[in-house]
Amino acid sequence: MTSMMQPQIILLKEGTDTSQGKPQLVSNINACMAVADVVRTTLGPRGMDKLIHDDKGNTTISNDGATIMKLLDVVHPAAKILVDIAKSQDSEVGDGTTTVVLLGGEFLREAKPFIEDGVHPQNLIRSYRIASHMAVEKIKELAVSIEGKSLDEKRSLLAKCAATTLSSKLIGGEKDFFAKMVVDAVIAIGSEDRLNMIGIKKVPGGTMRDSFLVNGVAFKKTFSYAGFEQQPKKFLNPKILLLNIELELKSEKENAEIRLSDPLQYQSIVDAEWNIIYDKLDKCVKSGAKIVLSRLAIGDLATQYFADRDIFCAGRVAEDDLHRVAAATGGTVQTSVNNVIDEVLGSCEVFEEKQVGNERFNIFNGCPAGQTATIVLRGGADQFIEEAERSLHDAIMIVRRAMKNSTVVAGGGAIDMEISRYLWQHAHNIAGKSQLFINAFAKALEVIPRQLCDNAGFDATDVLNKLRQKHALPSGEGALYGVDINTGGISDSFANFVWEPALVKINAINAATEAACLILSVDETVKNPKSESAQGEAAGGMGRGRGGGRGRGMRRR
Ligand code: ADP
Ligand code: MG
Repeated sequence: MTSMMQPQIILLKEGTDTSQGKPQLVSNINACMAVADVVRTTLGPRGMDKLIHDDKGNTTISNDGATIMKLLDVVHPAAKILVDIAKSQDSEVGDGTTTVVLLGGEFLREAKPFIEDGVHPQNLIRSYRIASHMAVEKIKELAVSIEGKSLDEKRSLLAKCAATTLSSKLIGGEKDFFAKMVVDAVIAIGSEDRLNMIGIKKVPGGTMRDSFLVNGVAFKKTFSYAGFEQQPKKFLNPKILLLNIELELKSEKENAEIRLSDPLQYQSIVDAEWNIIYDKLDKCVKSGAKIVLSRLAIGDLATQYFADRDIFCAGRVAEDDLHRVAAATGGTVQTSVNNVIDEVLGSCEVFEEKQVGNERFNIFNGCPAGQTATIVLRGGADQFIEEAERSLHDAIMIVRRAMKNSTVVAGGGAIDMEISRYLWQHAHNIAGKSQLFINAFAKALEVIPRQLCDNAGFDATDVLNKLRQKHALPSGEGALYGVDINTGGISDSFANFVWEPALVKINAINAATEAACLILSVDETVKNPKSESAQGEAAGGMGRGRGGGRGRGMRRR
């Protein structure tokens, strides 16, 4: 088209595509709504899972918003923002990733008719920001503190938060079993920021009920040499030596050159090598350790040497496992065997090599320093265990958050309905257009309870009407009512222990508002020809590309 205009001012390279103004904004909103529609059905305890099959042939089954978004390979530039907020929610708080995407999408869906009617986006953005700020303040006000409770009480409160997180997952059927495990693990590592001290080991086979928590460290048996089977496999109160050296007979390097004048000298050189390794082994034995672990190889000679002296050894232990053993047993990793003093040796109550499924595991239980825990996950298929691990990760994050911030709110859509009502009420007192926009924000918040109903097969309109009525009671007694997933009606979520850390909601609302405002503030996209073609290739993943969502993105009311 540009070629027809003479004379022309060339501002951008030929082939550059720009689209701007209202249509661009609407197309961005559509794309975001399409993305939100993908994760929509995964929300809540009755949410469905997604099976994602990538071009490398990997399949992933997940209910986790962040995981799904990551795997979706969204190419639309505006919709990518939603992917990013899901990721940030995942790293900031660990849970609420579906919620954040859904809220972001819904804020935009509510904004769309205004944009189409010619409202300036900045007006919307201003009102959304105000509404979000008020919502967050209200959540803080409504949050209930669990501070100052005894450890036992806290334990059961935390387990409830974990159970709420887990109830929406594949392992939701066993949520109490896993919630307890997660709480024990988190309490074991203490309050410090050392998440990597909780190890999760996945062993296919068995049922999920066979999963167990080790109050210490467990790792898969490392590669071992002959002689290993003669070593004892169980110790009580053993001393543990942790090494970062090789205990192996070194073969000469190819480029080593030794000049001998007498063939007899050769023997002395061979002997010297043997002496070095025997000396090292001897020092290990003298240290009094019954278990020798090394990050590097422990060869066949050493294995046999230790076996003859009733010592257990394992070489090539993964670095993080070795660090966790060190932290748990109170030992220190040594880079030399000279001068191994008692202080650097670790200890634990029971060490055992045990069969778990068809793997053998080295398990250190009852560690004095505590501070580590390992969850051994069992289950049928690989995809199942992978998803279980992601779910546990969510729960672990939630319990840690709840422990740190110690405030919870009622879940099941209760808090969302309450804020929504609060904003409606507030909006009544505002004169001007801003009233409409704040109402739009309030309406968008209802997406959470509505989606919880939809996903469970309940009549969302009916339940929502009941909830609105309950929350509108002037006495405020209905403030904690949310969707009752078991009966299809409404119930007091707080009394039913559907709890969520306040931080999850606060972060979700903040992030979703930011994303929505960001997308509303963009009115022009410039694409150079190169990125266009790259996108064309990648677009297979999303199918619809930009301006998508025509099929699924219809208005819901
Ligand atoms: P997210 O990725 O956002 O955490 P989930 O699929 O975990 O999404 O769903 C979380 C939502 O499900 C929250 O709004 C929570 O309040 C709700 N929820 C969890 N358990 C229950 C329950 N037992 N009854 C009602 N709502 C629940
Ligand atoms: Mg969740």
